[in-house]
Amino acid sequence: MTAVGGKFIRDIDPGEILVFSKDGISEMRGHCGQKPKHACIFEYIYFARPDSHIDGVSVHSSRLAAGRILAEKCPAQADVVIGVPDSGLDAALGFSQASGIPYGIGLIKNKYIGRTFISPGQNSRSDKVNIKLSALGETVSGKRIVLVDDSIVRGTTSKRIVAMLREAGAKEIHFRVSAPPFLHPCFYGTDIDSCDDLIACHHTVEKTAEIIGADSLGYLPVSELPSLIGSAGLCSACFTGEYPTTVPEAKLKDKFEMKISDKK
Ligand code: SF4
Repeated sequence: MTAVGGKFIRDIDPGEILVFSKDGISEMRGHCGQKPKHACIFEYIYFARPDSHIDGVSVHSSRLAAGRILAEKCPAQADVVIGVPDSGLDAALGFSQASGIPYGIGLIKNKYIGRTFISPGQNSRSDKVNIKLSALGETVSGKRIVLVDDSIVRGTTSKRIVAMLREAGAKEIHFRVSAPPFLHPCFYGTDIDSCDDLIACHHTVEKTAEIIGADSLGYLPVSELPSLIGSAGLCSACFTGEYPTTVPEAKLKDKFEMKISDKK
C-alpha cells in the first residue's frame, strides 16, 4: 500500500463491493448473505507481505509470534537461527528472540525467480529451488542450525534446502515450521494438493525429518493458530480438516476441480 503512495482507510469485508465513480465511493453489501468471516490463516503464515495488515493484524507480528511459540514448544540446542526467505525470516527472528540463539542470514534468495510453492510440476519445482536459493557458508559452516520455514507441503523443497546447507558445512539442522502439518487439501484457490501429495499425510514427524534429512523437526501446534492473530473467525482447514463450507465428501481436490471445469 505505501509502495504506491496509498493510505489505509479500512478493510473491505467479505462479499462487499466498493464502487468508485466520479460521484465518490459507494458500498454494496448483502450479495453473499451474512456469513461469518473466515480469514485464511495461511495469508498470515505465508502468502501476504510482512508489511501487510489484514483485519487490523500485522502479518510481521503474527509471524514473529509463530517463531516465539516454536521456540517454546519445539526448542533446539543450536548456534544460529536462520530463516528460509521470504516468509520464514520473520518467524526465524521470533525464534531467535525467544530462545536467545543468535539470528543469522544463512540462505540468499535469487530475486529473479518466482515462488516454488506454486510451480505445477515436481521437476520444475526441484530445479527452481537450486536456482532460487544458495547457502551462506560464513553463517552455517560448522554450526548447529535452527532452520525456520513457513511450511512443508510435499517435502521436495525442504529436502533440497537441507542438503544445500549440509553441503555448505552445517553440522546439525533442526527444522522448525511456522505452520502445523498440512493434512487436508485447500478448496479455496490455493495450490495445496490432495492428500496424495502431502508428506504429512503419509509420514510421522520423525519419518518426515528423516526423509528431508533434518536432525529434528518441529511444527507449530495447531492449537496455537488462533493466538497468531488474536481472534476467531479463521479458516485453518488445510491443517484441521474443519472446512468453513461444504466440500466434496471424498475430499479429493482433483475430483472437485474436475467438476468445476466440467461446468465451464
Ligand atoms: S484451507 Fe488453508 S490455505 Fe485454504 S483458505 Fe483455508 S487456511 Fe487458507
